[in-house]
Amino acid sequence: MTDLLRVENLSKRFGGLLASNALNLQVAEGETHALIGPNGAGKSTLMNQLSGEILPSEGHIFFREQDITKLPVYKRTALGIARSYQLTTIFNGFSALENVMLAVQANQGHSFHFWSNARKEPQLRTPAAELLGRVGLLPRGDVVAGDLAHGEQRQLEIAMALASNPTLLLLDEPLAGMGVEDSVQIIQLLEALKKEHTILLIEHDMNAIFSLADRVSVLVYGSVIATGSVDEIRTNAEVQKAYLGTKREGQRFQHA
Ligand code: ADP
Ligand code: MG
Repeated sequence: MTDLLRVENLSKRFGGLLASNALNLQVAEGETHALIGPNGAGKSTLMNQLSGEILPSEGHIFFREQDITKLPVYKRTALGIARSYQLTTIFNGFSALENVMLAVQANQGHSFHFWSNARKEPQLRTPAAELLGRVGLLPRGDVVAGDLAHGEQRQLEIAMALASNPTLLLLDEPLAGMGVEDSVQIIQLLEALKKEHTILLIEHDMNAIFSLADRVSVLVYGSVIATGSVDEIRTNAEVQKAYLGTKREGQRFQHA
């Protein structure tokens, strides 16, 4: 396996705080790589630097051996990196299908269209319906996004992220705030997506990680302190030390 993504010595300073601290990470082509760590460890800050929303203070990010450290978001999207945003990109007043059509349009490199035009375009409708089908939301395509259930909105966000046909999917806590039923649905969706995409997944739900992740990296105080298989990480003494109360069957890491 070759590395699709390589992070070298990445540091991000917020004033006096080192949110990323000489961070190293390798994500292999095709794997689902989970990123775990206590709240405030710097997981989202890392995602933001990978997607290009914030620039590192030091260090490098390579994607397919290309240095993308300073590339803007849209260029990373064009290279095959996509991030699922949490609710912020959904237009609540538009249907699920229309939301995906807008995402498809944004990725076809068209100049900006008026919404009313976008709604009519069959060349947007067909791929958008296909994407909704992939996330299991096609039967709900005509429902206004604001009326979708929480889990369905997450499915919609993922469909929108898929509109750029990404190689690497960045997912920051896709199960956050979800009930058991919704979680099961999203985990099934991720199981399907992992066959076609490399995934970097931030998640607190250890059951989800057990079933999804090929490898796990543990982030503490802005640095990756361990990378390994799920079993290796569960039994890693340093990891257990970093999480208070983890000795309880190693089942569920507790968050600071
Ligand atoms: P995690 O996602 O692991 O919970 P974050 O990456 O959100 O952690 O945050 C890491 C640390 O960086 C936290 O202490 C947080 O308060 C701080 N931080 C995150 N974003 C900013 C910002 N834009 N400005 C200042 N501090 C920030
Ligand atoms: Mg976070």
